[in-house]
Amino acid sequence: MKYAIALGSNLGDSRSILESALSRLEGVIARTRSAVQASSWYQTKAVTLPNSPPQPDYLNGCAILETDLEPLELLAKLQHIESEFGRVRQQKWDARTLDLDILLFEDGIFHSQMLNIPHPRMSDRAFVLVPLAEIAPDWQHPVLHRSILELARSIDASDVRKL
Ligand code: ATP
Ligand code: CA
Ligand code: CA
Repeated sequence: MKYAIALGSNLGDSRSILESALSRLEGVIARTRSAVQASSWYQTKAVTLPNSPPQPDYLNGCAILETDLEPLELLAKLQHIESEFGRVRQQKWDARTLDLDILLFEDGIFHSQMLNIPHPRMSDRAFVLVPLAEIAPDWQHPVLHRSILELARSIDASDVRKL
């Protein structure tokens, strides 16, 4: 199965965290047959909740994985990797060393209490769409029926800067 994943970090040495997380992903899914294709890294402004203190900029990127893992199995692997990199779950949208989200899988839709695919907020997020458009411009969003490139072009990406 083909998945699109978002990676983000705004605490610690973000670049080395994201690059190590990608190698960990390769290691984890290699046992179930895999390939990983990654975008460039982008520096982006943190999205915070109203009245919460400002946060450091993020480093964001996206990757495409081929794996036999089912969606919930992949989520468990991603959460395990997040905790290996010291992610502590505190308040919603707090600063974090590593965030790994599942964006898309094939042209599928998956809903459970723990996991929603497509990621429900991906189409509002330039920090997701811009890197994803670099590696998967023609992937069709299965709910919106528009390509990632079209979605990326339809939003303001002025806070997203390629490194
Ligand atoms: P956002 O989802 O807005 O990007 P976040 O990444 O900061 O916020 P987290 O605290 O990392 O949110 O995750 C909260 C929960 O979201 C996770 O425990 C997970 O069960 C759930 N979740 C639902 N859909 C997804 C998805 N597509 N990818 C990753 N986690 C998901
Ligand atoms: Ca996220
Ligand atoms: Ca997350």
